[in-house]
Amino acid sequence: MTMEARCSCCPRGMFITVNLRPGAEQKVVFITARVHPGETPSSFVCQGIIDFLVSQHPIAKVLRDHLVFKIAPMLNPDGVYLGNYRCSLMGFDLNRHWANPSPWAHPTLHGVKQLIVEMYNNPKINLEFYIDIHAHSTMMNGFMYGNIFENEERFQRQAIFPKLLCQNAEDFSYSSTSFNRDAVKAGTGRRFLGGLLNDTSYCYTLEVSFYSYIVGGTTAAVPYTEEAYMKLGRNVARTFLDYYRLNSLVERPLASTPKTRKEKLPVFKCTTQQGQETSHADSKPEKRSQAHLKDQSLSAR
Ligand SMILES: [Zn+2]
Repeated sequence: MTMEARCSCCPRGMFITVNLRPGAEQKVVFITARVHPGETPSSFVCQGIIDFLVSQHPIAKVLRDHLVFKIAPMLNPDGVYLGNYRCSLMGFDLNRHWANPSPWAHPTLHGVKQLIVEMYNNPKINLEFYIDIHAHSTMMNGFMYGNIFENEERFQRQAIFPKLLCQNAEDFSYSSTSFNRDAVKAGTGRRFLGGLLNDTSYCYTLEVSFYSYIVGGTTAAVPYTEEAYMKLGRNVARTFLDYYRLNSLVERPLASTPKTRKEKLPVFKCTTQQGQETSHADSKPEKRSQAHLKDQSLSAR
């Protein structure tokens, strides 16, 4: 039901979290996919994330050193096996049952939620990101759904990750990204966990088109391929390097990882409620101090 990605390159399949310093606070990124069994692109995106994280790529090594990735790549295996489009074996849309999942009727959801709640209650763990990967049948590109918060600063901080992802992935659209609290989405992972976790946690639904994307500045639709979906997954993973400002720790050269976006976007600035412009790392509360990182002067880009 849940899995922790293992590094196939390491002897005895060591956990990819092996490089974390003993006693260090664990910053956890929790990723789920395929809660809707017909949304096959979500599996390719998730595969891209996993393949990248367990690779020997210099960025992947840095990410493994600083973050813990928990990945449940298939939340609805019964539905996938049966060829269902949206429901589980028992006919439930699991992404409407996060509030009170039953161990009997929604076992995978129940197990994953239990793990998330345990991590939330563990003072040594900060569950900072939850990303649930889906595929969209009518929209183009990749994009995200986020939550609406009363706190303006929190609301703006939530926009940082999709903005950074937009700079890394040519097929990801920030303009299609939206934030809502529709009643109909109340039982989704993104909505429920957004209300449960603390105010420095961010919960997103990552959607990717079933069919194509348009690159900024052009009008031609590019059909998605399995490789393009996996590339989006790799770009999601590497965006955490930017978010946590870990760029200076990556071994050079990076010739094998060219920027995927053609035009360079300006560095994102977050305007706080008081009107002060800050970079995204500075906008984090004191508790989320990045003091353990080696180089604070490094720009995210
Ligand atoms: Zn879906």
